[in-house]
Amino acid sequence: MYDVKSMKAEEFISHEEVLDTLKYAAENKHNEKLIDEILEKAKKRQGLSHREATVLLECDIEEKNNEIYKLAEQIKKDFYGNRIVMFAPLYLSNYCVNGCLYCPYHLKNKHIARKKLTQEEIKKEVIALQDMGHKRLALEAGEDPVNNPIEYILESIKTIYSIKHKNGAIRRVNVNIAATTVENYRKLKDAGIGTYILFQETYHKESYEKLHPTGPKHDYAYHTEAMDRAMQGGIDDVGFGVLFGLELYRYEFAALLMHAEHMEAVFGVGPHTISVPRLRRADDIDPDQFDNGISDEIFAKIVACLRISVPYTGMIISTRESKKCREKLLHLGISQISGGSKTSVGGYAEEEPDDERSEQFDVSDTRTLDEIVNWLIKMDYIPSFCTACYREGRTGDRFMSLCKSQQISNCCHPNALMTLKEYIEDYASEDTKNVANKLILKEIENIPNEKVRQIVLERLEKIENGIRDFRF
Ligand code: SAM
Repeated sequence: MYDVKSMKAEEFISHEEVLDTLKYAAENKHNEKLIDEILEKAKKRQGLSHREATVLLECDIEEKNNEIYKLAEQIKKDFYGNRIVMFAPLYLSNYCVNGCLYCPYHLKNKHIARKKLTQEEIKKEVIALQDMGHKRLALEAGEDPVNNPIEYILESIKTIYSIKHKNGAIRRVNVNIAATTVENYRKLKDAGIGTYILFQETYHKESYEKLHPTGPKHDYAYHTEAMDRAMQGGIDDVGFGVLFGLELYRYEFAALLMHAEHMEAVFGVGPHTISVPRLRRADDIDPDQFDNGISDEIFAKIVACLRISVPYTGMIISTRESKKCREKLLHLGISQISGGSKTSVGGYAEEEPDDERSEQFDVSDTRTLDEIVNWLIKMDYIPSFCTACYREGRTGDRFMSLCKSQQISNCCHPNALMTLKEYIEDYASEDTKNVANKLILKEIENIPNEKVRQIVLERLEKIENGIRDFRF
C-alpha cells in the first residue's frame, strides 16, 4: 500500500506506514545503538528518513536528546549561518465557505466581521507594510470561489508588486490559499509568486474529515495532493505545515516527513519551507477544546528533529508564538520569522475598531518589526530582508544546489547584510541603526571571497547614498 512515488494521497501518506513507523519508534526509543547510528547519519547532513527521524523524536534518553539539540543547532549554523529572514502576513479576505472546526473564518461563524480588501485598501496596507520595512509578504485568504476567486488573488498580487512607496517595495509575495487546480497554480506562478504555502492541518485522514466537516476542504485527497498539482503547474517552491494541536504530534511528524520524501522522490525537490503553527485562541475557537495540544518542550524537540531530518528546508515560525518561545526555537532550526504581524483583514494601515474585528487568531508576539529586528541583532542574528533567490531564478533544485555547494556565505550572507543596510537607512530607530551598523561591519569579515567582500563594501556605501536593491 505505501508507495512514496504514488500520486494518491492515501498511498504516499499511508496510514499503515505511519502506524508502523510509530510502533518502530516506540520499540526503539531506548535502543542506544540504533540512536547513535541515526545520529551519525544525521551528522553527515544528508537528512534522515521518516522512520529514523521518528525514533529520535521518541527517544527519551536525556544525553541523546542533548546531542540532538546540539546537532540541530550546528546544522542550523552550517546551512543558514546566523541569518533570519523576515516577512509579514497580509490577509486579503476572510470570506470562507469551509467548516474548519479550529478556524474562526468557518462559514457558520456569523459574528466575526467579514471583510475583503479592495485594490485601493490593499494599496494602503502595502504602503503601511513597506513603511515598516517589509519586503516579503505571505498572502492569506479564506476559500470562497465567489468572493475570492483566483482572478481576485492574481489582481491583488499585481497590485502589491506595483506599489513603490518612497524606497519601499514588496519583492516577494508568497501565497497561502486553499488547494486549487494545476491551471490556477500555473496562473500563480505566472503572476510571480515566491512560495506556495498550504498547511496540511492534519495528515490523519479520519481526523481531517471530522475537522473539515463541510466545504471543498473536506476532500482529504484533493488537499493532500495539492503540492503535486502546484509542482505540475510550475511552482517549485512549496511550503508545508501542520497545525499542531489537532492530532497526535508523532503522527503528524512522521507523515510530514513522508510527504517531503514523496516530493523529493517524484519531483526531485523537497519542500522549500516547513511551518510549525500551533493552534491558538480565536474569535469562537477555544484551543482547550482540542485534546492534542503540545508543550513547549515537545515543540522544541519537533523543531530540532525536523532541522536535522531535512537540513535544506527553511523553517518558519509566526507570531502565534511568544518572544520567549521564538528565542528558543531560533537556536534549534528556525530560519524565517514574521514580525509586526496583523492577522486581521486590514489593520496595518488603520487599527480595526473593536466591534469590527476580523482576526484569524490571537497573536502572541505583538512587538513592532523594529523591536524584533533590534532583538535579533542583540542576539547576534542578522535580520535579512533578502528576496534574491527567486528573483534570480534560484528556486526548487537550483536553490538546493546553492545550499549544497556551500556558496551561501558568498551569496545569502552578503545579500542579508545589504538588505539590512537598506532597512536601517530607511526605517530603523536610532538604537537599531547603531547596533545594526556594528553588526554589518563585523559580519563583512565573514564573507570568504575577497572580491565579493570588496563589492559589498562598495554597495553599502551606495546604499547610504540612496541607491537600492543590490543582490548577488
Ligand atoms: N484558507 C486557506 C486554506 O484553506 O488552506 C489557508 C489560509 S489560512 C488563512 C492559514 C492557516 O491558518 C490555516 O491553514 C490554518 O493552519 C491556520 N489557522 C487557522 N485557524 C487557526 C487557529 N485558531 N490558530 C492557529 N492557526 C490557525
